[in-house]
Amino acid sequence: MANLDFKTLVSHCKEYGFVYQSSEIYDGLSAAYDYGPYGVELKNNIKRYWWEAMTRLNSNIVGLDASIFMDPQVWKASGHVDAFNDPLIDNKQSKKRYRADQLIEGYAEKVLAKADKEVKKAAKRFGESFDEAQYRATNGRVMGYQEKADSALKRMGEALTSGDMQALYDLIVELEIACPDSGSREWTEVRQFNLMFSTQLGAVAGDAGKIYLRPETAQGIFVNFSNVQKSTRQKLPFGIAQIGKAFRNEIVARQFIFRMREFEQMEMQFFVKPGTEIDWYEKWKEARMKWHLTLGHPAEKLKFHDHDALAHYANAAADIEFEFPFGFRELEGIHSRTDFDLTAHQELSGKKLQYFDPETNESYVPYVVETSIGCDRMFLAVMANALQEETVPDADGKDSSRTVLKIPAPLAPVKVAVLPLLKNREELTNKAKEVFDKLKLHFPCQYDEKDAIGRRYRRQDAIGTPYCVTVDFESLEDDAVTVRDRDTLEQIRMPITEVAMHVKGKVSLESLLEKLL
Ligand code: ATP
Repeated sequence: MANLDFKTLVSHCKEYGFVYQSSEIYDGLSAAYDYGPYGVELKNNIKRYWWEAMTRLNSNIVGLDASIFMDPQVWKASGHVDAFNDPLIDNKQSKKRYRADQLIEGYAEKVLAKADKEVKKAAKRFGESFDEAQYRATNGRVMGYQEKADSALKRMGEALTSGDMQALYDLIVELEIACPDSGSREWTEVRQFNLMFSTQLGAVAGDAGKIYLRPETAQGIFVNFSNVQKSTRQKLPFGIAQIGKAFRNEIVARQFIFRMREFEQMEMQFFVKPGTEIDWYEKWKEARMKWHLTLGHPAEKLKFHDHDALAHYANAAADIEFEFPFGFRELEGIHSRTDFDLTAHQELSGKKLQYFDPETNESYVPYVVETSIGCDRMFLAVMANALQEETVPDADGKDSSRTVLKIPAPLAPVKVAVLPLLKNREELTNKAKEVFDKLKLHFPCQYDEKDAIGRRYRRQDAIGTPYCVTVDFESLEDDAVTVRDRDTLEQIRMPITEVAMHVKGKVSLESLLEKLL
C-alpha cells in the first residue's frame, strides 16, 4: 500500500469530480479552484465535522456567519491596511516573482535535507547500534548544516519582525540563493506587497467607496463580540465559531488548493479572562491535535511548529503542520491574540467591547485564543492521506492493483453504492432500486448498473465509497444482500433490513464526535 504522488493526486481530483481549475475552458484562472460533485460533498462533511465539534460538543461555543464586506475601518484597526504584507522579490533574468521569506525557507530546507542525508548514511553504516540524537548532536558536518539553517531562519525572522526589507535582500544575496527557475542570482530589491483585494462599494467613486474583501474571517467575530455575548448571555470563557470565505492576493500561489487567492477558513475565537490565556492556548492546541488524530491521520504526519517570530498581535502561536506530498506545511494556526483586536476596535469605533465579570464586579476587554484552519488545506490533507494504490486479489483470486480513496467513512462523499449484479435483468434492477430508495433516506447513496461488477467496485473505490451493496439472484428469494467493505474487502451477507444500521455504525459523524468527548 502506498500513497500516490502529488501529480497523480491532482489529476485524480479532476478525473473523479473532486476539484477543477477555475474557468478551465478559458485556460484557467490561477490559484482559484472549483469543487466538483464529490468535492463539494467532502468539503461539506469536513465543515460539518469541524462545526459540530466546536458548537455541538461545547455548550460555550456559538456560531456566526458574518458578511464578507465590512467597514474599511475594520481593516485599519486590525492592522491589515498597514501591515498585512508579504515581502516580494523579482528575479531580473526570469522575471519570476517570489516571496523573499519562502526563498530563504527553501534554502534552509535544502541545507537540512543535506543533514538528513548524512544521518541516513550513518544509520546504514552503524546499523542497530545507531543513536540518531547523539549523532546529530556530535557530528561536525551535521551540526554545521543545522547551524547554517537555524542562523538563516533566525535572521529572516528578525528582518520580518522589524520590517527590514534591505536585510532580507542582503540575506538572499549572502546565501547565494538562485532563482529556482533560471538559476540566476540577479534580484530586484525586496518590496512589501499588501495582500488584501479591494473593490468599490456602490456608486461611490475613489477612496471613499473603497472596501476590501476580508483576508480572514476573524474580524467579523471581533466586531460582533458584544452582540453575541449579549444575545446569548454567555459567560467567559466562551467562543464564537465561523466558517467562511477569505481572500488574499498571494504573490506566489502554487501547490494546487494549498495556497489559493480565494479560500475558506474555519475559525474559532475563544474569549477568556486576561491572565488565563496561555492555559487556554495549551488546551486548544491539544484539542485541535486530537480533532486531526481522531480522523485517523497517522500521528507521524502531524506535528506542532511553535513560532519564534510572533505576529504583532500574539503572545504565543503555533501551527499544526501536516506532511503534504511536498513536505510538512502549515495546516492550522493556534494563536493567543491577547486583547489586541478588541482593544483596537474599541479605540477606533469608540464603542465599548468589554465584558462585565459578575464574579469580580469589574469590566475588562477579554483576551482571545484563536484556532484557524483552512478548509481547502484540510481537504488536501484528507485527500493526500486517503489516495492509495494497493495490491488486492481480484475475482479469480489473482493479484491486481487498485486505486482507492480511503477517506474516513464519516467524510466520504457517497456512503453506499447499490449495485444489481446484472444490468439487463429487470427483476434484479427493480430490487436494487428498491434497496436504493430505502437507503437514500439515511445516507448519500449511488445506484450503478453499468459495466461488470468488478469495474463498478473500482469506480466506487476511486471516489472513496465505504460500502457497496450487491443485489443478486438470491436476494430475490431471501431478501438479503452482500455488503462489501472498501478497506477490508470483506463481503458480508445480511438481510436488507439490517443494512442501514450496519452502515450507520461506521459512517455517522457521531461515531467521530464520540471519540472527541
Ligand atoms: P501561510 O504562512 O501558509 O501563508 P498564514 O500563516 O498566513 O499561512 P493564517 O493567516 O494563520 O495563515 O490563516 C489560517 C489558516 O488559513 C492557515 O493555517 C491555512 O490553513 C489557511 N490559509 C491561509 N492562507 C491560505 C491560502 N492562500 N490558501 C488556502 N488556505 C489558506
